[in-house]
Amino acid sequence: MDLKKLGWDDHLEKVFSPLKSVGYSVGRVTIENRDRYQIVTEIGECPAEVTGKFMFSADSAAQFPKVGDWVAVTMFDAEQKAIIHEVLPRKTKFSRKAPGKGFEEQVIAANLDVIFIVQSLDENYNLRRLERYLVMVHENRVQPIVVLNKTDLCPEYEDRLTAVRNLMPDLTVVAVSAKTNSGLETLRSLIKAEWTFAFIGSSGVGKSSLINQLAGEEIFKTAEVREIDSRGRHTTTRRQLIVLPTGGCLIDTPGMRELQLWQAEEGMDETFADIDRISTDCHFSDCTHTSEIKCAVLAAVASGELPQGRYQNYLKMRKELAHLETTINKESFLERKRKDKILHREINRI
Ligand code: GDP
Ligand code: ZN
Repeated sequence: MDLKKLGWDDHLEKVFSPLKSVGYSVGRVTIENRDRYQIVTEIGECPAEVTGKFMFSADSAAQFPKVGDWVAVTMFDAEQKAIIHEVLPRKTKFSRKAPGKGFEEQVIAANLDVIFIVQSLDENYNLRRLERYLVMVHENRVQPIVVLNKTDLCPEYEDRLTAVRNLMPDLTVVAVSAKTNSGLETLRSLIKAEWTFAFIGSSGVGKSSLINQLAGEEIFKTAEVREIDSRGRHTTTRRQLIVLPTGGCLIDTPGMRELQLWQAEEGMDETFADIDRISTDCHFSDCTHTSEIKCAVLAAVASGELPQGRYQNYLKMRKELAHLETTINKESFLERKRKDKILHREINRI
């Protein structure tokens, strides 16, 4: 496998050179399955695991290899297996708050150039959810492209296309059908060799169908990887990162139900640049745009310049982020206190 087809470039070569000089080879993660991975290297594809040292020195789940990560490895078992020693610094990533009660970052995929935000033009179509995705994509400095799929189910989609375009200036939006292949050439023309494209969106919107269409039947057939699970059973897993024959990688992100924000200040500013701009005319510099007098944002809502739904969604996400921030601060405060206590105990013992 020519690593260039996977996106390997001079910058990565430079970053990797000290690791290369101590004898490591490089690979890119194509499947993450709890603590087991599949990677592709210059010589092909193989299963991989992280070293015990890696496991014990990692502070958080986000530091473990993710689909799209470049990793420094050593090969064993006649080059049939790999051990991951290090994850190379990520150029970009796509993260959310890990589902559940805790407050931890979950990295969905790493080293992305473009994220296709997929919605289908049936009941899944939702501008507010789209705004949430846009915030998360912008936060990670990845270019978003909106894909409205299933045009065959909604022939009158022009208004919806316009509504999405109106969310942000310069937002690329394409309408396609993975069933009839309508619009697929436009989508294909956006795929660049050496770039990595992730597909995100609710389950059932057609992400896998689109990837299959773009990759072609042949790749689809080889996308399944035979594995032996922890109980020794044979299982098949779908590869999440697919390398196109012409170069370029497509990443599927299956099973994302919840989409809770993870630190997204910049993403908010960029996605809601209109509100940001309007708010410079608010009377108070720390205006919360909820009840203050002479609030320019409230005035824009009243005049209809700023759509009510967009404004409400903005407030909702702001609130979510504020809650996230106070909880994280509280948690790190408690963690600090816990560490201080241990330290004191140890000092007292001396
Ligand atoms: P994913 O969960 O986002 O990967 O969605 P899938 O690719 O598995 O598709 C979910 C369902 O929608 C499947 O039954 C597909 O056949 C169907 N589907 C995908 N794209 C289209 C489309 O453009 N039009 C129609 N009518 N159905 C589609
Ligand atoms: Zn205001």
